[in-house]
Amino acid sequence: MPKSINPATGDVIEDFAEHGEDVVERALENAEIAFRDWRRTPFSRRAELLSRTADVLERRKHDLGRIATLEMGKRLKEAVAEVEKCAAACRYYAEHGEAMIADDERSGPGSKNYVAYLPIGPVLAVMPWNFPYWQCFRFIAPALMAGNVGLLKHASNVSQCALEIENVLLEADAPQGVFQTLLISSKRVEPILRDRRVRAATLTGSEAAGASVAATAGSEIKTTVLELGGSDPFIVMPSADIGKAVDVGVTARMQNNGQSCIAAKRFIVHADVYDDYTARYREKLEAMTIGDPMDETTDLGPVAMKSGVDDLTDQIERSVEAGAALTTGGAIEGKGFYFKPSMLENVGKEAPAYREELFGPCAIFFKVASIDEAIELSNDSDFGLGGSVWTNEAGEIERFVRDLDTGGTHVNRMTASDPRLPFGGVKRSGYGRELSREGIHAFMNAKTVTID
Ligand code: NAP
Repeated sequence: MPKSINPATGDVIEDFAEHGEDVVERALENAEIAFRDWRRTPFSRRAELLSRTADVLERRKHDLGRIATLEMGKRLKEAVAEVEKCAAACRYYAEHGEAMIADDERSGPGSKNYVAYLPIGPVLAVMPWNFPYWQCFRFIAPALMAGNVGLLKHASNVSQCALEIENVLLEADAPQGVFQTLLISSKRVEPILRDRRVRAATLTGSEAAGASVAATAGSEIKTTVLELGGSDPFIVMPSADIGKAVDVGVTARMQNNGQSCIAAKRFIVHADVYDDYTARYREKLEAMTIGDPMDETTDLGPVAMKSGVDDLTDQIERSVEAGAALTTGGAIEGKGFYFKPSMLENVGKEAPAYREELFGPCAIFFKVASIDEAIELSNDSDFGLGGSVWTNEAGEIERFVRDLDTGGTHVNRMTASDPRLPFGGVKRSGYGRELSREGIHAFMNAKTVTID
């Protein structure tokens, strides 16, 4: 198991031992036993567990936030806000979950016909480190409300967060086996997924991990939801409020120290406002305070791993060799995994940054002459997660909503997930939806019932 390392210093926090086969076997057994009861618990009891979980999260938000900051370097205030968002998701499903999965009466051949939404069993969640709590709770809240039980394989660099998530559920009095964390390496996912007791998997992470888990699940005829990478467009048209588009554009790229799947990664700016937009954007980046993520005054903390700095440096260098211009930013030498907020301009089709996801604080810029060009460039990507468009022209809004190949289009605001709305992507960004009604239905058996 890789160690937990503080990205702000490079120091090892703790070296966690992997769970042995006996622990995994016991967890699978517990999950199976727990499911037998949990599937039959009334909605009110499931909702009560989620409400208590929200209470624990709110009570512990500062210490949980600190743990995330130490393990993966996100700014403390963002980490605390993340824990609050997890609590909100639990409360949302506690309040609305039952109605979403109530029997659904239909007309049909019987004298009574309806769809009964039933849980399917233990679900394996394979999760990434970048939102170490949120990615997990956006699975846990609907899954438990649906009557499923969960097993978590978290990213190897956030084992403390992984253990704390199980602790939070136990503190909220979750019955044994309803939610369990497994400290295992990624190569041990396959046998677990093949185990007959595991009914489905959800994975948030890279394309490679998603493809591997989906291939195994497919060969076992098990359902999957995949939330993978993105290179979201942020399109700025001449009618936009440029000042707001700069402020929000910087946040949308630099939040979470530049490591969000739905970060604005490709800034596609109309030629009429390109120079003004990029000049103001650069000025804001150069004014950012880089440093300790525990410090309230820090605007940008470190990236989570040394490999994050190395990968981003390599992508930028190869893009510059291909003709792009790094107009501000770059790696920072020294202790900790820091990278200056960066801008790549003049990015041609041959540059790696044109196609690859840049998972760190670097925004890439394109100048376009028309909405057609903006849409074409935006869709010339293997990804299709979210997208943000800035315009005050009704006709342009309609075209963006209809023609952008993405799982979400957000107008004059940044892309963000919200428990009340479905979240997910198209193309190589994955399939299936999390959150809202769609999220709870992802792992349910829509059973057809006809009665005479
Ligand atoms: P990653 O390497 O794919 O890791 C994600 C999880 O998958 C970790 O738990 C990892 O375990 C596990 N894993 C890796 N390879 C696996 C395999 N072959 N079989 C089974 N499990 C495997 O992803 P990352 O680089 O940490 O995270 C960044 C990526 O996630 C970016 O592309 C980002 O855009 C994407 N992401 C997407 C969303 C979304 O909602 N669409 C949200 C956040 C992040 P180990 O740590 O043990 O390797």
